Amino acid sequence: MEYKKLAEFYEEVSGTTKRLEKIEILSKFLKNINESEKDILYLLLGDIYPEYDERRIGISNQLAIKAISKSTGTEEKQVVIKWKSIGDLGKVAEKLKKQKRQSTLHSQILTTEKVLTNLRKLPELVGKGTVSKKLALITELLTSASPLESLYLIRTLIGDLRIGVKESTIKGAMVSAFFPEKEKKEVSKKIQDAIDKSNDIALVFEIAKKGKLKNLEKVLLEVGKPIKAMLAQKAKTIADGFKALGKPCVIEYKYDGFRLIIHKKDDKIILFTRSLENVTKQFPEVVDYIKKHVKGKSFILDSEAVGYDKKTKEYKPFQDISQRIRRKYDIEKLQNELPIEINVFDIIYYNGKSLLHESFEKRTALIRKILRNQKYKIIHAKQIITGSEKKAEKFYKNALKDNQEGIMMKNLKATYNPGSRVGHMLKVKPEERDLDLVIVGAEYGTGKRSGWMSSFILACKDGKEFLEIGKMGTGIKEKQEQGTTFEELTKKLTPLIIKEKGKTVQVKPKIIVSITYQEIQKSPNYNSGFALRFPRFTALRPDKPLSEITSLEEIKKDFEKQKRNYRFG
Ligand code: AMP
Repeated sequence: MEYKKLAEFYEEVSGTTKRLEKIEILSKFLKNINESEKDILYLLLGDIYPEYDERRIGISNQLAIKAISKSTGTEEKQVVIKWKSIGDLGKVAEKLKKQKRQSTLHSQILTTEKVLTNLRKLPELVGKGTVSKKLALITELLTSASPLESLYLIRTLIGDLRIGVKESTIKGAMVSAFFPEKEKKEVSKKIQDAIDKSNDIALVFEIAKKGKLKNLEKVLLEVGKPIKAMLAQKAKTIADGFKALGKPCVIEYKYDGFRLIIHKKDDKIILFTRSLENVTKQFPEVVDYIKKHVKGKSFILDSEAVGYDKKTKEYKPFQDISQRIRRKYDIEKLQNELPIEINVFDIIYYNGKSLLHESFEKRTALIRKILRNQKYKIIHAKQIITGSEKKAEKFYKNALKDNQEGIMMKNLKATYNPGSRVGHMLKVKPEERDLDLVIVGAEYGTGKRSGWMSSFILACKDGKEFLEIGKMGTGIKEKQEQGTTFEELTKKLTPLIIKEKGKTVQVKPKIIVSITYQEIQKSPNYNSGFALRFPRFTALRPDKPLSEITSLEEIKKDFEKQKRNYRFG
């Protein structure tokens, strides 16, 4: 297919924010894609491979700027100036291309195949000296591209397509394009199931295009191919949790670690994170635990890995062990210094059979049967089954005392829905607390947030001084209708810049914000000696004078109080 057609589709579908209209436009577009062109489906989501595949385009803004500069004959500096004023590199490329258009007459026709071929070469190039090769691949595309094609090429390259098409939009469009109206409900479920199991939208498209419901059922869960994790909703209190789930239900510790989805097929064990990244190499001990302590030829387990102190055996917060996920060297040393315990809380597949449609009651019973608990290595997540609020409260307090985040309440009859934030699994965590702090620094964002400051350094006061206590990026919005935006904050802070280094700036303390947080921790990273966990913006406080922001004294008090709550609460 000509890339022009795809770019025109992107433009059309971006023109509406209404879901149903998007589905209609996409449905028409899907009818024009042949089965042999099914990989275009990846491009619709800004990708080049199925979701389960780890290869991503991964081009930095800097390289995109170079490519725009080269393909339009504009100085890099000029591209950057335009970027700062427009805030969207795609639009910059479109504009510069339009200006250049008058002077170039014939450019080659760009096809989606050619775009995919070049983009797919990018992740294969790694290490030193590959920048110029990448640049050549991108420039080749941009040189043949029209202004509109350039806009979407650049956005695809930097991972910021912004057309408002999600997997669920594609699902809706496939249903309406290839199946009769009366089968809609059933088809929709089957397509979702096929997407959940394969994590491959192009494969599902290929099957759906033939319009045979039965064929969708043939898509199976495959051990070794990552599956999206089921996500939880929130309940304010245990009573609310029971109201939503019914009694009795399963209550488990909500461990403060990171998610690990563990696949085993014969002797091969693969570990995936919540974002489907393969991290097997980083955790050789987990592979060993699975081999020794879990029975079964093949399975997929869902679990949380939690760090603990080697000496005291107390559980540690996630930050303390987060480096274990990324670090690819010194693994043995790290494994020894930062040991983890695997807490298995679900099972999705066992000995050749998918358990996605089985009840949680059955799944959790199976874990009990196949897993031999080994404290500080691998255990079945701590759990009670109860309908009593009193017992649940006691369990919740124990979880907090054990340094965990709270509890999860789970409906006994519920199935496993990959990738969905479901109402049958609820988290209960302590209330967040409020502080008023001043912004003393910021960092410019990338991708969708390029051109804006997107992360803010907060400080409390200590006498006349301001001491840093954390970095905040959540709670601020991208669109105006929803609340205070990054753009608004950037505008307020820009005139206050004192120092600039790379993407970070230091600003005069003036802008005061109210934030909530979940926990205060001791930290050497900030000069206050403390760090906030999960700080979230709630409001600008132009009404507050600097003298009234939270003091270090108050932070210390909150920290002590919280410690007492953990111990004795
Ligand atoms: P949140 O990230 O706050 O939405 O909470 C959901 C996360 O809690 C999951 O993605 C898991 O990583 C984690 N978690 C910890 N313990 C459990 C548990 N017992 N059951 C399910 N998820 C858990």
